[in-house]
Amino acid sequence: MEKFEIKLNEDALIRREKRKPSPQKNKLTVKKIYCKGCGLCVDICPTGTLQLEDNKESKFGVSVKIDAQEYCIGCKLCESRCPDFAIFVNYNEKKEKNEKKTSITGKHNRC
Ligand code: SF4
Ligand code: SF4
Repeated sequence: MEKFEIKLNEDALIRREKRKPSPQKNKLTVKKIYCKGCGLCVDICPTGTLQLEDNKESKFGVSVKIDAQEYCIGCKLCESRCPDFAIFVNYNEKKEKNEKKTSITGKHNRC
């Protein structure tokens, strides 16, 4: 792991140490196939939930890891910052809500 990645991870851990786990349960989803391990999400996460890790299966050799999901406050900064649409916050919840809406209105998703 390169120096700047280690620094990102260390900074994230320092931020995490200053916090308590979130009372709210949030679900993070990473699409590793799209993640290039740029670290933007690790850098912006205010709670130090994310880390970078070596990943031999990725062509970039590194990808993001959800290291302490219980610290996630659901702010979605990671999701909005990711240039590759590789990380989602409460993704299934949103999908379920859409499905419920569809079943109430009787409309399908393409309308
Ligand atoms: S939603 Fe916020 S707290 Fe949770 S991982 Fe993303 S940036 Fe961090
Ligand atoms: S999830 Fe997105 S922002 Fe985070 S390391 Fe991967 S590509 Fe970069």
